[in-house]
Amino acid sequence: MTTSTLPISFEFFPAKTAEGAKKLEITASQLAENKPEFFSVTYGAGGSTRDRTLETVTGLSQVTGVSTAPHLSCVGDTRQELRALLKQYLQLGINRLVALRGDLPSGMGGFHGELQYANELVSFIREETGDHFTLEVAAYPESHPQAQSFEKDLLNFKRKVNAGANSAITQYFFNAEAYFHFRDRATALGIEIPIVPGIMPITNYTRLARFSDACGAEIPRWIRKQLEAYGDDVQSIRQFGEEVVTKLCERLIADGVPGLHFYTLNQAPAVQRICWNLEL
Ligand code: FAD
Repeated sequence: MTTSTLPISFEFFPAKTAEGAKKLEITASQLAENKPEFFSVTYGAGGSTRDRTLETVTGLSQVTGVSTAPHLSCVGDTRQELRALLKQYLQLGINRLVALRGDLPSGMGGFHGELQYANELVSFIREETGDHFTLEVAAYPESHPQAQSFEKDLLNFKRKVNAGANSAITQYFFNAEAYFHFRDRATALGIEIPIVPGIMPITNYTRLARFSDACGAEIPRWIRKQLEAYGDDVQSIRQFGEEVVTKLCERLIADGVPGLHFYTLNQAPAVQRICWNLEL
């Protein structure tokens, strides 16, 4: 496959203000020029962005013409709430969902939905809507932070595949070997769905370190040390980040990955530069 035909997708989060929503439409329109297979829009577990996710999905697909998939998480929603949301998505002609367990925002306490894990959500969506939706699920090359072990996490990933997931998007990583290892172990378990690497551009060290701590993604020491050394030199951080992430993607593409999913953080420039470097 030449890189120009490699499927790519871009992830956004719903803006909090009307002004943010307008800016997001501009960002998405810019990224639409790269002809992504789809956009996706995150969902605040517990329903905190229920309306904004829906509005963002419809807004972006109308403005850009790109098929846009809502994320849906089960950890804080009842079956009834999920059913109502699925009905709305069906009525809107949406045909792809990213099905997740989710993480409840701090302060909302522990699990209080009816479905505890993402494999239960995948089964629920299949029971309610058959094969209508293409279902994406999450995968963790460096293990989910709450996983009891790598092996158990892999088996839990397989549960989602067995429940009817069509494709997976990984948590971001900077170590290509972690992805290859996970993919090869998944293949050995008989998992055949595409496992698409999630790619995080590097533009801001403090934010990246905070995200990475929370989601269990490792920033290799040499990258951390170099970013720390740049301090407030934003230009050098961006340039270095672009080089690191471009090289990571080059390695992944050379190894035949089925696509790339970019965590845009609602910003176009860093992702556009990486795509340009990769001729995507
Ligand atoms: P699961 O697959 O349910 O796994 C969660 C943990 O439980 C793992 O440790 C797993 O090993 C274990 N487990 C799974 N199934 C079982 C089982 N049946 N029995 C026992 N243990 C089990 N979060 C949001 O809130 N909103 C979003 O929009 C969002 N988008 C994301 C998009 C991507 C591509 C990714 C990679 C993550 C996203 N997240 C989002 C974060 C995600 O919700 C968290 O990582 C969450 O902690 C786990 O969700 P999951 O769907 O992977 O859960």
